[in-house]
Amino acid sequence: MDFNLSEEEKLLKDNIHEFLQKKLRPIMRTIDQEERIPREFVREAGKMGIWGTVFSKDVGGLQLPMTSAVLIAEELGWADFSLATGVMYVLEEGWGYVLDRLGSSELRQEVLPKVVEGEYFLGVASTEPTGGSDVASIRTQAIKKDGNYVIRGQKIYISGALEAKEWGGGHLVLAKTNPQEKHKGISIIYVPTTDERVKVTKINNMGRMGISTAIVNYEDVSVPQKNLVGEENKGFYHAMEGFNHARVLVAGICLGAAKAILDQGIEYIKNREAFGQKLKDFQAIAFEAAELYTRLEMARLLTYKAAWALDKGVKDAHVIVAMAKLTAPQVALDIAKSVMMWMGGYGYSKDALIEAGFRGIVSYLVGAEGAMNIMKLIISRGILA
Ligand SMILES: Cc1cc2nc3c(=O)[nH]c(=O)nc-3n(C[C@H](O)[C@H](O)[C@H](O)COP(=O)(O)OP(=O)(O)OC[C@H]3O[C@@H](n4cnc5c(N)ncnc54)[C@H](O)[C@@H]3O)c2cc1C
Repeated sequence: MDFNLSEEEKLLKDNIHEFLQKKLRPIMRTIDQEERIPREFVREAGKMGIWGTVFSKDVGGLQLPMTSAVLIAEELGWADFSLATGVMYVLEEGWGYVLDRLGSSELRQEVLPKVVEGEYFLGVASTEPTGGSDVASIRTQAIKKDGNYVIRGQKIYISGALEAKEWGGGHLVLAKTNPQEKHKGISIIYVPTTDERVKVTKINNMGRMGISTAIVNYEDVSVPQKNLVGEENKGFYHAMEGFNHARVLVAGICLGAAKAILDQGIEYIKNREAFGQKLKDFQAIAFEAAELYTRLEMARLLTYKAAWALDKGVKDAHVIVAMAKLTAPQVALDIAKSVMMWMGGYGYSKDALIEAGFRGIVSYLVGAEGAMNIMKLIISRGILA
């Protein structure tokens, strides 16, 4: 057992950290306020190889393992702890991984090099107004017609819908190719969001403002057969693969945000005085800091193990991934809340920026990439089977 990062991992982490410290951290507030990640940053990050960490080399990716992707996720969460940029990373890597592994070579070459360059946004469209947790009950249909798939249905809370519409790109849409069946009737089909029959309506969220979330209507959108990702009617299983990869990165970005916020809190309690001594010298605060640091380390180890389990193809990897997704956002939220308290009135102000982290992290407790109870469902099924 070796808990040290390899020389390559250290180099990767340091290079990305330096780049993001210079290029992303200074614009975090602007991203949150202007509700967009600047195109220039997205393109520059593309040149750094950020958007294609785990993709194959033939589509321009770095072909690195998930353990490396988690290190990058942490750095993105650290630099923009509103989590908007991290969300983008989760989607590009987690769902780009599925397209890379299972898409036709024509589709891979059409979409993935553009994702890598930061020219396209790639996301997933699974959730529907009738519910997100019960994926097998989706109603959107993909009907075969003249060798094409015609997509009809409505999706909701779809991240990056406006970006994909504006920049280019699309979503891996979960649709029924056999409506008689539940999970055995689902396929994944790549649908360009730029198609005029894809209608996007923005939802006003409370956090991670730099990335849009939207209702997406697919009004008989016709796409060619080559846009099928993986096997027909096996989309549910393919999607679970995507969720696993995305969830471990969710844990990664939450760890990064938690570290950024906790570091600020530690600096604050080292300097702020009350009743003639530093806040850090009150045991109530020092013990809380000790506990939060310990929980952050625990969440980090669990997340690294989950990424490792995916890389190694461990049988129960999805259970460890669910544990990481259950733990990291909660630890991050608890850290944000405690740091706000340590900072008193300043913590509540927008100047401290902690609230932006708080708002972003909550999305991963509410449900993005799977609600907390669904993580508990996966873990309990895994351990009680
Ligand atoms: C900011 C944000 C971005 C998102 N981006 C995307 C995206 O890009 N693509 C996409 O497809 N979806 C996206 N989602 C949707 C997300 O995946 C869903 O919110 C999530 O799957 C939960 O679905 P739901 O909101 O319909 O809640 P429901 O499924 O209706 O669940 C409501 C509550 O019931 C609980 N619950 C459900 N089933 C059970 C059960 N069996 N046992 C115990 N409790 C249960 C859940 O834990 C939850 O607390 C996003 C959501 C958010 C908040």
